[in-house]
Amino acid sequence: MCARHDEVYNDMAESMNPFEMARQQLATVAEKIDLDPDVHEVLRYPKRELTVNFPVSMDDGSVKMFTGYRVHHNLTRGPAKGGIRYHPETDLDEVRALAFCMTVKCAVVNIPYGGAKGGVVCDPAKLSAAELEDLTRRYTTEIAPLIGPDKDIPAPDMGTNPQIMAWIMDTYSMLAGYTVPGVVTGKPIAIGGSEGRVEATGRGVVAVTREALRTAGKQLPGMSVAVQGFGNVGSVAAFLFHRAGAKVVAVSDVRGAVLNNNGLDIRQLMAHTKEHGTVVGFPGSEPLPGDELLTVPCDVLVPAALQNQITTKNAARIRARFVIEGANGPTTPQADTILRENGVFVVPDVLANAGGVTVSYFEWVQDQQSFFWTEEEVNAKLEQILTRAFSQVLTASRRHDCDLRTAAYIVGIGRVAEAIRARGIYP
Ligand code: NAD
Repeated sequence: MCARHDEVYNDMAESMNPFEMARQQLATVAEKIDLDPDVHEVLRYPKRELTVNFPVSMDDGSVKMFTGYRVHHNLTRGPAKGGIRYHPETDLDEVRALAFCMTVKCAVVNIPYGGAKGGVVCDPAKLSAAELEDLTRRYTTEIAPLIGPDKDIPAPDMGTNPQIMAWIMDTYSMLAGYTVPGVVTGKPIAIGGSEGRVEATGRGVVAVTREALRTAGKQLPGMSVAVQGFGNVGSVAAFLFHRAGAKVVAVSDVRGAVLNNNGLDIRQLMAHTKEHGTVVGFPGSEPLPGDELLTVPCDVLVPAALQNQITTKNAARIRARFVIEGANGPTTPQADTILRENGVFVVPDVLANAGGVTVSYFEWVQDQQSFFWTEEEVNAKLEQILTRAFSQVLTASRRHDCDLRTAAYIVGIGRVAEAIRARGIYP
């Protein structure tokens, strides 16, 4: 094949529908673990999916239609769990792929949930607070038949936050006629949120990085780190890396990147971002084009922004020896192969960012019992679950002689398959 043909082929393969990519991942694992073909067939389909089109009254008096989704992938191990994404480019196939990823993620950390995901096609940055609240309340009403503390428990994802979870909880409670804190997680502590939930995904990213480094006899202090995305996941991870003695040399957001080879002061960078809405222009840093963040020289790279960021176009230029996937799906399968061939140690999303869903599970347990834990208890239990999951995935990777992504799927899909076999096919 000529080089140009190769490039076109790779571009086509990399722009593959995300749910088809998820199915390919499933097929790879199915072959490796000799998965029962009937179980494989069950897992190839989302259990149910709802598309809603709904009107919102905008501030200028006009009415605008929005589209939203809620997809349940597999509920064999428990109620549906998964975030809600507000993003202009989200679509049904992305939400299906993310719901599948949640089925695997919950099983990898062994929490009793099935996988789900939701999304609304919108740009939250372009909506006023009143429009965002109206959109959220109407979307909640539209998906209300699916959600509930025993059925499906949404949480934040890209473009959503604790305030949006509070509006979902309030709307659902108004429909029910009584307060139902356990219908969402990631909500403010004042209404049944958990200590440590906001930091949980970033905290988990740092915990699994520590475990990954340990496999190579290394430790966090002194490691240089680059983080793509400075939102909920990226900013907390950067802060905790900094606090653990690592040197965060570069950080980016949608507007650009900043670099300081001596290490950025993350606390000050957070204050700057709060004031200016971006990391760009941070004093004491050099500006860097956003797309160069991924290839800066560093020990640890944390993509914590969007999917499909590490591709055939940049994978060979990645200098980090460890890639810890804070975001969901940041690496295309083709780029994953390049990283593997180059000896990069990749901790996959279903393990690296599972801290969020783990503390969401703690929040739901606390809501169901109306009995709340301290932050120390939450963090200690989180550490315990992630360290155990990391070790189980590492063991599977050694046993099956495969990379950590395949191993995480082997562990996760294995648990889901066991549950499907135990329950049987109804009727
Ligand atoms: P967020 O909306 O809080 O932050 C996203 C960040 O990425 C922002 O700083 C934004 O400016 C930046 N960004 C967007 N496009 C970018 C680009 N092209 N280049 C560089 N930066 C860009 O979102 P979040 O909650 O931090 O989620 C980030 C990722 O982590 C998503 O893939 C999400 O699915 C995943 N995730 C989040 C959680 C959670 O608890 N929030 C849990 C698991 C996984």
